[in-house]
Amino acid sequence: MHVPTPRYLAAFHPKRVPHFFTDVLVIGGGLAGLRAALAVEPSLSVLIITKDGLQQSNSSYAQGGIAAVLSPEDRFEDHIADTLEAGGSLCEPKVVEQVIHEAPKRIHELIDWGANFDMSGDRVALTREGGHGHNRIAHAMGDATGREIIRVVMQQIAVSQNTEVWDNTFTIDLLTLKGACRGALVWNGQHGKTMVWAKQTILASGGAGQLYRETTNPDVATGDGMALAYRAGAELTDLEFMQFHPTVLYIPGGGRKLISEATRGEGAWLVDRNGHRFMADYDPRGELAPRDIVSNAIVSQMEKTRHPNVYLDMTHLDAEKVVERFPGIAAMCREFDLDITRDRIPVRPGAHYMMGGVRVDLDGRTNVPGLWAAGEVTASGLHGANRLASNSLSEALVYGTHAGKEASRVATEMQDNYSALMLENARLEPVSESLNLADIRNSVKSLMWRSVGVRRDAEGLREAAENIDRWCRYVLARQFFDPTGWELQNMLCVTRLMIEAAVLREESRGSHVRTDFPKQDDANWNRHTTFSMEEGEGS
Ligand SMILES: Cc1cc2nc3c(=O)[nH]c(=O)nc-3n(C[C@H](O)[C@H](O)[C@H](O)COP(=O)(O)OP(=O)(O)OC[C@H]3O[C@@H](n4cnc5c(N)ncnc54)[C@H](O)[C@@H]3O)c2cc1C
Repeated sequence: MHVPTPRYLAAFHPKRVPHFFTDVLVIGGGLAGLRAALAVEPSLSVLIITKDGLQQSNSSYAQGGIAAVLSPEDRFEDHIADTLEAGGSLCEPKVVEQVIHEAPKRIHELIDWGANFDMSGDRVALTREGGHGHNRIAHAMGDATGREIIRVVMQQIAVSQNTEVWDNTFTIDLLTLKGACRGALVWNGQHGKTMVWAKQTILASGGAGQLYRETTNPDVATGDGMALAYRAGAELTDLEFMQFHPTVLYIPGGGRKLISEATRGEGAWLVDRNGHRFMADYDPRGELAPRDIVSNAIVSQMEKTRHPNVYLDMTHLDAEKVVERFPGIAAMCREFDLDITRDRIPVRPGAHYMMGGVRVDLDGRTNVPGLWAAGEVTASGLHGANRLASNSLSEALVYGTHAGKEASRVATEMQDNYSALMLENARLEPVSESLNLADIRNSVKSLMWRSVGVRRDAEGLREAAENIDRWCRYVLARQFFDPTGWELQNMLCVTRLMIEAAVLREESRGSHVRTDFPKQDDANWNRHTTFSMEEGEGS
């Protein structure tokens, strides 16, 4: 499979753009990117690039918590077993072991930096989420874990002498020469394009929930990192595995906000329009079954009851405790005149976490020399076909640290060189007829939701592929001058690869549910799907 994308989305020539030199370039200002930057040797310069403000990342929005073995009653073996079980036999056991053994150390480091995790007496309070056999989710400020973690990590960045942050700066493409990454072409509203030359580059650009109409992800999650890594020759793997969060607030006209799984961990029920608590009809684990099972059950129940949503019910729980434990969710629902202690909350699934992405080794090294990756943009092997809840913040910390340290180690061995390479891209003239980009973007998102959503089948995937191919033909051939166009081009590239991966995988496994192949087929499919673009393949 090859998407007919140009190698570079924008025209550039080294004589016509400013240049910037850094030792380590980090693309992405979420948890993985910030943690990677902090792991770089202080004698090296680091530049962090983020396309919005630093607060706009999936990391900042994380609610439920961060999973790790933090209590003496819990065991590494159990957390490892739960992760492998959720991953549908596509996890890499060595990766799972590395992340789970290292996660407690990384969390204690956050505590040393001043993170205020919720406490129970003198111990970190731990809750449980679907698929976990033990209470091992640490949380902060009730349901604002991401915000608190990012706060302390940003504080560390602010006092580090060697790190600079360029926010509201869009990474258009990675610069490569003879197959190796040499930095990136970036753009911002003030300076236009800049060629950033880096000894080592770390990609930490997060996920791709915005490829779907229904999603918990903020606007920045358009899969840019996967697309630009693909254009630079990186291997992408497991793209068919998008995790759908079962409970996204569904109020027409309101934002699609996540209602954390921790609500079910604390005893919330899922009921249909008739008040029937239906999860036991689908799985003995009830509301705490893994996410794909719960999402699927909700879609079935919505169909059965001919209703656009189901409801999350906390009305039987202690009202005071509910508001104390979930202050953010309570406030968000109040905006829509819902009192979570008395009213049922309308919910349905939404795209939440991308398991697939750039393939990396245990240190975050990609197949492109000079390019490292960490966090949601990767398919590290931790999550396999399905992520166990709250393992991703741990992954971002552990992989961010490894990628940062290793990129730093390699950069230290390299000589300073302040000359730009002769890389240029003379792109086509812009086509004069303008396009309604918002219209195409909405069409892509609706199509993905309809045909590549919680359930897929060959016919829907074929229709999706035909449409995306048609849109690719005239959108990828054009030249755009700001992020709206580049984002759309990235979205088309990633959706096309996701659809192809979903077509190839003729079985159901983890979050990938094919109604025409409902069984897991270990004989043929106990393996990964992988795509890459050879150098020179770009059109
Ligand atoms: C609502 C919500 C709740 C969640 N709750 C939990 C939870 O409780 N526990 C858990 O473990 N996980 C949770 N997750 C998942 C978790 O937050 C993410 O997987 C994790 O934070 C990803 O971190 P990251 O650093 O890889 O990416 P992100 O935090 O998404 O950061 C990506 C960064 O890349 C930047 N970027 C993207 N494209 C470009 C570009 N072209 N140029 C420049 N910069 C770019 C963005 O601006 C952003 O700064 C949740 C996710 C969401 C959306």
